[in-house]
Amino acid sequence: MTKHTSDESTAKIVRDYPKIGLFLNGEWVYDRDPYTYVINPSNESKLAPVPKATDADLQRALSAAERGFRVWRDTPPQQRVAIIQKAVKLARERIDAIATVLSLENGKPFEHARAEIDRSMNFYEWEMGQALRAYGTIVPGASQMQKFVIKQPIGPVFAVTPWNVPMSSAARKTSAALAAGCSVILKPAEETPGTACELVRCFGEAGLPPGVLNLVLGDPAHISSTLIASPVTRMVTFTGSVHIGKHLSQLAASVMKPVLMELGGHAPVLVGASVNATEVGRISALAKTRAAGQICASPSRFIVHQNSYSEFVASFAKTLNELRVGDGLQPGVEMGPVANVRRLSAAQSLVDDAKNRGANVAAGGHRLGDRGYFFAPTLLTDVPLDADVMTIEPFSPVAACVPAVDLDHAISIANSLSVGLAAYAFTNSLDEAEQLGRRLECGVLSINHFDTPDADTPFGGVKETGIGREGGPSSLDAYLVTKTILQSTVTV
Ligand code: NAD
Repeated sequence: MTKHTSDESTAKIVRDYPKIGLFLNGEWVYDRDPYTYVINPSNESKLAPVPKATDADLQRALSAAERGFRVWRDTPPQQRVAIIQKAVKLARERIDAIATVLSLENGKPFEHARAEIDRSMNFYEWEMGQALRAYGTIVPGASQMQKFVIKQPIGPVFAVTPWNVPMSSAARKTSAALAAGCSVILKPAEETPGTACELVRCFGEAGLPPGVLNLVLGDPAHISSTLIASPVTRMVTFTGSVHIGKHLSQLAASVMKPVLMELGGHAPVLVGASVNATEVGRISALAKTRAAGQICASPSRFIVHQNSYSEFVASFAKTLNELRVGDGLQPGVEMGPVANVRRLSAAQSLVDDAKNRGANVAAGGHRLGDRGYFFAPTLLTDVPLDADVMTIEPFSPVAACVPAVDLDHAISIANSLSVGLAAYAFTNSLDEAEQLGRRLECGVLSINHFDTPDADTPFGGVKETGIGREGGPSSLDAYLVTKTILQSTVTV
């Protein structure tokens, strides 16, 4: 693999990184103490300070969201859609500038950042359609009783989003909440706030009424405990780690608020004996290294039929070794750095643990260079099932591969964890495909490809991976409450 960096050209682009602010009641607020700094993971330089919201700022966000909700709730869906449509148009017009911001703060290649933004705008387009179809029901009843079931927006939403897909996660949550008629207080990850600021700026300029979409940054634990405890917020939506998801769910449970939780996975990839193992090995390596392995649906446990194992491993390792790794803003780069220093040490510790337990390193296994958070695309083979990398989500470009004797064996390894989000399988047997669909414990199964759901199909997990679904025909449900109206036609 080769590593590409160019400090000179990146330095020119860094000027385009936005000033990071809080967005409260339709106004940007910048002059706050820094909580931390956004770091460019390609060269470890500081991009911008992240302002720390004060208690007064959080109270302002809450009262703005409360007022904004009353306005937005009463705005007809057609008018809501017209404003969201304008924001989407602005984001699409600015896609190159926003992709530059995303790539600078997260590290992923520019073209991948662009694709993430494009896909995120599709989420808004889907939810705009949903806003117009949030139908109620009329229930047949006795002649003197009319029974209506209507759907209403749940209220102000607290949305917390991660650093690995800073646009897609913010778009998933704000698209459904705003379409449903809710106001939102968005807290993006402090590691990647620039993309969320650019998204919110589009909404501000599109004419979204003040208070409908607010953005806060600062100490995440303090922000979460304050905003969840407040009676103003009515629902909590989060994408991130299982650990933080459980913590936020506990805070919400203590005040009986519903949650939508999209948490971690550790996606198994089951490769049968009937497939072209060289081709599946090649596309597996490319899928594994997308976003440097930092996607909740990233394929990470490769469970390969013993007859195809050597061919699969050879092709996977060859593809990893040929990958162009470098600064995401350099042309031709296929994989950037991991997004923060925590992932660098986590990746190394998984590799060291696996080696100590007897696994082989077929590719990579170490940091690349000493500046920037680059980790070599890594394939570990013959990994013992109790190695950390088989049980802890790698969230880095580290893949683990084990042989399986048959389908039952492969499925038992795949289902052995407490999480279940995405799963992938490669087989040319209809019988195997049917069994995999029925028996794998996951929220999404992709057979013979590595695509994940678009806006039109539900995305979410089972077991400790979370609660609820984003996208698909029921995408607004988490943001709506059902009200039953029993109206007597008898005068009193
Ligand atoms: P982490 O769990 O400490 O997460 C840090 C992030 O969570 C920060 O962005 C922070 O803003 C937020 N956070 C921390 N405490 C919070 C609180 N009390 N309230 C609200 N937000 C809070 O660690 P990490 O190193 O960022 O990631 C660890 C693991 O999390 C990864 O290995 C991966 O498994 C998982 N993860 C999953 C996703 C996903 O898309 N499902 C995204 C990011 C991370």
